[in-house]
Amino acid sequence: MKITLKPVGDVADGTVEKLSDRVGSVFHCPVETRAGFGDSTEAYDPQRRQYDSSKLLTSLGKAEREERVVGITDVDLYVPRLHFVFGEADIGSGTAIVSLCRLRQEYCGLDPDEALLLERAAKEIVHELGHTFGLEHCPNGNCVMHFSNSLADTDVKEVHFCDKCRPKIVF
Ligand SMILES: [Zn+2]
Ligand SMILES: [Zn+2]
Repeated sequence: MKITLKPVGDVADGTVEKLSDRVGSVFHCPVETRAGFGDSTEAYDPQRRQYDSSKLLTSLGKAEREERVVGITDVDLYVPRLHFVFGEADIGSGTAIVSLCRLRQEYCGLDPDEALLLERAAKEIVHELGHTFGLEHCPNGNCVMHFSNSLADTDVKEVHFCDKCRPKIVF
């Protein structure tokens, strides 16, 4: 199994590489970073001033056998029924997308905190990867598969799978 992280649109230099280390230490498998694509305009909704998460997810294509692909973006993502999403996964194609936008302290008017941003992003990436491995949401608030409605939920949960979820991961 290998995991590939791809920037989608402009993502600060080094961010994806730093995330790959964190994600690799959870799954104990190689994590590569590959060039993504720069143009997300087709997924932009000018009324919402957000990007259609599912469209960006589809444009990542399909992961290879024994591979999972996660797009990392800095734009704000939505799905039609929700105000926003931190990320989305598609089990069929083995792909997922995660947005850094609302994980930033700046989004709430606070001072930037890169370490906190990376910690939150790693949790959301591991969460979406968990979905691509067949896991559903977990009632345990400390488990990475717990659904994050807000940043507070993300900050409470750990980057790891709980004892009930971990054995369910099907590589
Ligand atoms: Zn989820
Ligand atoms: Zn769990």
